[in-house]
Amino acid sequence: MNTISKTKIQIEKIKESKLPLVNFKNLQFGKIFSDHMFMADYKNGEWQNLKILPFAPIELSPSCAALHYGQAIFEGMKAYKNNKNEIMLFRPFANAKRINSSAKRLCMPEIPEELFIDAIKQLVKIDADWVPALEGYSLYIRPFLFASEELLGVRPSEEYKFMIITCPVGAYYNEEVHVKIETEFSRASEGGVGFAKAAGNYATALYPAKLGQDQGYKQLVWTDAKEHKYIEESGTMNVMFQIGDTLVTPSTELKTILAGITRDSVLTLARELGIKVEERRVSVEEVIAAARNGQLKDAFGTGTAATLAQISSITFNNERFTLPAIETRKLSNEIGKLIQDIKRGRVADTHDWVYQF
Ligand SMILES: *Cc1c(COP(=O)(O)O)cnc(C)c1O
Repeated sequence: MNTISKTKIQIEKIKESKLPLVNFKNLQFGKIFSDHMFMADYKNGEWQNLKILPFAPIELSPSCAALHYGQAIFEGMKAYKNNKNEIMLFRPFANAKRINSSAKRLCMPEIPEELFIDAIKQLVKIDADWVPALEGYSLYIRPFLFASEELLGVRPSEEYKFMIITCPVGAYYNEEVHVKIETEFSRASEGGVGFAKAAGNYATALYPAKLGQDQGYKQLVWTDAKEHKYIEESGTMNVMFQIGDTLVTPSTELKTILAGITRDSVLTLARELGIKVEERRVSVEEVIAAARNGQLKDAFGTGTAATLAQISSITFNNERFTLPAIETRKLSNEIGKLIQDIKRGRVADTHDWVYQF
């Protein structure tokens, strides 16, 4: 499986690890970073200057293109340890593909798959002690690519930086997820960049999400930008509904939805468990009708951060619909556990999803 040749990465190690200073009982997501980071430059049409070095601020020109025109994309994935202390990644080749599909849409250079995988592997190996072995914990990996040319002219940058930083993350606390169906603002539109993991998609969502949070909604359920009639995603996660016995999720066809790796994994496992799955347009009307007549058995978001976040209530036009108690939700509880078990090497990985090193 591990047939990737070593990319020439220069390594500069930290003098003294910061690991003993970390309080693992009180980890705030994305606040504490491991000892090292990866950095590479794209210049003169090629990737060069591949380095692993101590995590530290970097120097950028104030005219750096990413700061002005938002040519910036990222990925999110996690490393786990199994009970033999081996490190495992979940479907990293899917992240490699996706960063390149995002890159293409934002006119950025592709990152060769071997470079992407090998950089992650070497970085995580150097910081192996930062991968928590505790149940529920993992090392979050954040690869990102941004335009670094010093240029205020509007055109694709000719220089980029590809970097990877990592941070240990704790158990995801299952606070109740109350969501509101958003019918004024939108996250993405047809022809836009909704399918890409573009930094700007997150910036766009902050203001409406803040308004929702002020009203007590943990997340917004995004609807299509044209009519606000069809459901797209929930916050920064893909969204799924169990209507009767069928698992229904918005299809990624119109490219307004980010094709989550967790989404694909859940759908694959659901089909294998014999559950009827439908990927298609999902109207607000049908979800609300199902909630009214008791057919809406389950609703949940999917994504790397939480894997599966079950939704407690859905509000539409100021009317709140409460979903069945989370303990009683067979489908999401079963699939959620199965994915966790696969990621942590506790059950057979029949799909070759786990990359172990
Ligand atoms: C990252 C992301 C997801 C989830 O993707 P995973 O690969 O499952 O982590 C879903 N929606 C949006 C908008 C995202 O940025």
